[in-house]
Amino acid sequence: MQETILIKLGELVLKGLNRKNFEMVLLKSLRRRLMNLGEFEVKSAQSTIYVIPKNEEADLDAAEEKVGKVFGIVSYSRACVVEKDLPAIQKAAADYLRDELLEASTFKVESKRSDKKFPYTSPEISREVGAYLLEQFPHLSVDVHNPDVEVRVEVRDFGAYVHGNARPGAGGIPVGTGGKAAILISGGIDSPVAAWSIAKRGVELTAIHFASPPYTSQRAEEKVVRLLEKVSEYSGRMEMITVPFTHIQEEILAKCPEELFTIIMRRFMMRTAERIARRKGCEALITGESLGQVASQTMQAIACTDAAVQMPVFRPLIGTDKAEIVATSYKIGTYDISIEPYEDCCTVFTPKHPRTRPILHIVETAESALDVEGLIEECMQNVWYTRIGWNRKKEE
Ligand code: ATP
Ligand code: MG
Repeated sequence: MQETILIKLGELVLKGLNRKNFEMVLLKSLRRRLMNLGEFEVKSAQSTIYVIPKNEEADLDAAEEKVGKVFGIVSYSRACVVEKDLPAIQKAAADYLRDELLEASTFKVESKRSDKKFPYTSPEISREVGAYLLEQFPHLSVDVHNPDVEVRVEVRDFGAYVHGNARPGAGGIPVGTGGKAAILISGGIDSPVAAWSIAKRGVELTAIHFASPPYTSQRAEEKVVRLLEKVSEYSGRMEMITVPFTHIQEEILAKCPEELFTIIMRRFMMRTAERIARRKGCEALITGESLGQVASQTMQAIACTDAAVQMPVFRPLIGTDKAEIVATSYKIGTYDISIEPYEDCCTVFTPKHPRTRPILHIVETAESALDVEGLIEECMQNVWYTRIGWNRKKEE
């Protein structure tokens, strides 16, 4: 039996003039992700994208899993393809959806006829297929409002498709249609979720990670790489730039009041990230901050942090609770990695009593004890690069 994946597009259906571009980006990203799973034809017609295996070797199960992680897709279904002939469609519905129908108590049939040459109208197709299924599965009854299984029949130009309940897609808009931004990534729970959230809105990512060797280990950095690998299953490949931050931290520790250590450190992170972001063509900085979560995430602290840079800083998690962030991290597969106990540069020199309401001019005065430019320049010269999402063979 010939099978295919039918994909329904999300919000981009609404986007008028941008639609073509969005669709092209989505097709390209689907093709790239399916590359090492065998040969597939990926095409778009009649507001649906088709993923069609070209031969037996093409791994449709794996393709389905990938499709579920591509932003811009509202739902998708695996369908069987049959000739445009009513008895063939009836039989296909019974055979292809047998397991689902045996488990269900109620069903309905929804039909769509885009090929107007087909001799039955949509309501007629539904009626005929429904009657046949009731005959084949006498335990079933029809429920048009809330059926356990919705049997869908689509009679299209290339053939007739039969499928059951559609699966929800990853939603959002295709990555690459919303510009590029730099995510400040730690090994924690929040920043990978922030990365995923912003990629969901179509933004391509570059990752920036601050490390404090020898206080932080190689394994802590590898943990961040593994987190980003997970994120890249959704966002596509990216580059990670690791910034050695130890000297800056030591200087702050030696020359600034302890209670301002965290806020000054965060201002350095932002300044450095902004410079790297500019070089990489990014237009915004992203962090995993959530209002009130820790001392550096009060409104006043965030205002002081943002005052160090000109670039917009987006915080997609600002209004979310930890429990919600944790739920998302489970869903995207980063949670188990995030809770591995490795040290982060932020926890290396944490002050006992950080200022929760720092005042900008006091912070600036404290910073004047430091050679801000020189320190940033020095660490910028010693960054190193890791490719994320490229190891998965030809895939990305
Ligand atoms: P997370 O779970 O993301 O680590 P957090 O609640 O621990 O967040 P902080 O440690 O205060 O919060 O960090 C806030 C944000 O600052 C992080 O979400 C991340 O965007 C950025 N950040 C923190 N540490 C680093 C780091 N070592 N490298 C890059 N960015 C970092
Ligand atoms: Mg952290």
